[in-house]
Amino acid sequence: MELLEQKILNEGRVLSESVIKVDSFLNHQIDPVLMQQIGEEFSDRFANKGVTKIITLESSGIAPAQMTGLSLGVPAIFARKRKSLTLIDHLYSASVHSFTKNETNEISVSKDYISSDDTVLILDDFLANGQAVLGLMDIVEQAGASLAGVGIVIEKGFQDGGKILREQGIRVESLASIESLVDGKVTFTKEEAS
Ligand code: 5GP
Repeated sequence: MELLEQKILNEGRVLSESVIKVDSFLNHQIDPVLMQQIGEEFSDRFANKGVTKIITLESSGIAPAQMTGLSLGVPAIFARKRKSLTLIDHLYSASVHSFTKNETNEISVSKDYISSDDTVLILDDFLANGQAVLGLMDIVEQAGASLAGVGIVIEKGFQDGGKILREQGIRVESLASIESLVDGKVTFTKEEAS
């Protein structure tokens, strides 16, 4: 997705050979116009798949998930990383090791919002080693729901997540795919993964 790649090139800050910071439009401040286009793009790519729910992980997945939900006309659910006073039981839960924070969180979704009648689209901001998506897939499976596929805003193709998921036959759509972050420079994979 051209606009997204331009944003990454212009505003992304390469922090190391494996991490890029995109706080100016995705992970802290949010660019609503870009999010709207991201939502439309995911909606086009997963049209006719019978998606009934979108599921993501708080907090950075929420903006793209909400805009995709708006385009597809379905609700967006965000898995919570901490239990709260209002979210204690009647939950599906899974363990997710965070790549950026190097900590393991238990993520939870209320059983009220996902059921065996649902066809779920998983969305996230980044795909690195695939732990977040695998945790969300675990929850989809516990609910007995079907998986339509996985939509990722920025995939880092030099890490294993994309390979692990595609080897399982899962459809993974990334709107930008980074091949390398070597020498502080972002290089995109020539053909976007599909
Ligand atoms: P994974 O679970 O695939 O290993 O990592 C994906 C999660 O880690 C995403 O939800 C995202 O929050 C975070 N993440 C992974 N790599 C990066 C990165 O290079 N930059 C930022 N900002 N977040 C990342």
